[in-house]
Amino acid sequence: MADSQPTDTDDESEATLRTPIVAVLGHVDHGKTSLLDEIRGSAVTEGESGAITQHIGATAVPLDVISEIAGELVDPTDFDLPGLLFIDTPGHHSFSTLRSRGGALADIAILVVDVNDGFQPQTLEAVDILARTQTPFIVAANKIDTTPGWNPNPDTPTQRTIDAQTDRVERDLNENLYELIGDLSDNDFSADMYWRVQDFQNNIGVVPVSAETGEGIPDLLTVMMGLSQRYMKEEMAVDVGGPAAGTVLEVTDTQGFGATVDAIIYDGTIRADDEIVVGGVEGPIVTEVRALLRPRPLEEIRTEGQFEQVDSVAAADGIKIAAPDLDDAMAGAPIRVVGDRDVDDVIEDVRAELADIAVQTVEEGVVVKADTLGSLEALATTLEAEEIPIVRAEVGDIAPRDVRVAETAGEEKHRTILGFGVDTLDDASDLAEQEDVRIFEHDVIYRLVEEYEEFVEERERAQQ
Ligand code: GDP
Repeated sequence: MADSQPTDTDDESEATLRTPIVAVLGHVDHGKTSLLDEIRGSAVTEGESGAITQHIGATAVPLDVISEIAGELVDPTDFDLPGLLFIDTPGHHSFSTLRSRGGALADIAILVVDVNDGFQPQTLEAVDILARTQTPFIVAANKIDTTPGWNPNPDTPTQRTIDAQTDRVERDLNENLYELIGDLSDNDFSADMYWRVQDFQNNIGVVPVSAETGEGIPDLLTVMMGLSQRYMKEEMAVDVGGPAAGTVLEVTDTQGFGATVDAIIYDGTIRADDEIVVGGVEGPIVTEVRALLRPRPLEEIRTEGQFEQVDSVAAADGIKIAAPDLDDAMAGAPIRVVGDRDVDDVIEDVRAELADIAVQTVEEGVVVKADTLGSLEALATTLEAEEIPIVRAEVGDIAPRDVRVAETAGEEKHRTILGFGVDTLDDASDLAEQEDVRIFEHDVIYRLVEEYEEFVEERERAQQ
């Protein structure tokens, strides 16, 4: 995608605006997945020329496709951005556990709110996370096709803004969202319709949409482009030609390549023979890229194989990286191309980033396992607040060696493993049963901790 990016050599800085990374958040069932599907669907329909490339973990919608979808609303000559990259896994778990050097991996977010349901607990949680990470966002007021009196007249302006002073944000959006969306007569789209969470002073863009009928999607993309252009110009001009920085999404086994990592590259360029440093369970892993793999379109898979190899990938992009020694790589960990830097400096950088997210452990406590480094940190923070000590904290499925550690971790309440978003390997559950080690698993952190605390209370009652 690098060669579709306009470069302005007159500009003092050589930096190019890279593709903004977009995350979709919101309460369960408010339409996050449908919205992503609808955006992908429109992009595929509009981009029949093959403009949509397949990515790992994310969908890239190039500027020309956005302008085709948005029609007059987006004139490509007004924008320096190559397009938008949507992270495919919606929800604030993926948002808050995927980090980049600067904070959240996503640059901007869409907060999906069901207009019939208003703000719900996870909506508020999402607002909280967005405010904490200072991530600018737009509210997609979804399911407008279900609202009484909705007028799908394409000439009706479908945007408006809400004045959002600090302490009024939640209340205003919560109480007034439906009413505001019902009344669309004033406030045409303006480029100022964006919000920096930082000061709560500006406006929040609220775009009424239907993920079901596609109404409002052009407007949503238009507002996203306006917001991104502004934000990226201020904060995100990067040298996309420099050595890449990225975040591991997942460690997978890929046929013919062994252990590989799926990664989002958020800075620079990675090439097919680059030396890289990847965060691993035991510390930084230094290795050399063997192949960069992109999924092929469905119709080609049967004849051509599942992946095609590419020579290089520029930010922002999702890619599968094959390299030796990646078995111990960690989801959520940093990945860096060494380039012409001293490899030891890069190792130090990765080590420092890993240390930044490291969990404090003690001699006696519970074993915790989580699906990404970020979720491990979130779980550890919750346990710390509840004064539950941790003997070992790692990313990955629950394995026999975890049971071995739990077995010797002190009194009965510590002979426990808490797994968040992970599986328990069969031989680990057999061993746990044999050794009387308890395993708790859940996909919601507070539920996991509650279950553990209930168990401890029960034990204590039984002993009295
Ligand atoms: P998520 O949990 O936030 O990802 O929500 P989903 O995308 O799975 O949507 C939850 C339900 O709402 C599904 O049954 C969708 O078909 C439905 N839904 C999502 N968006 C819309 C919409 O714009 N209009 C209508 N009528 N239904 C929708």
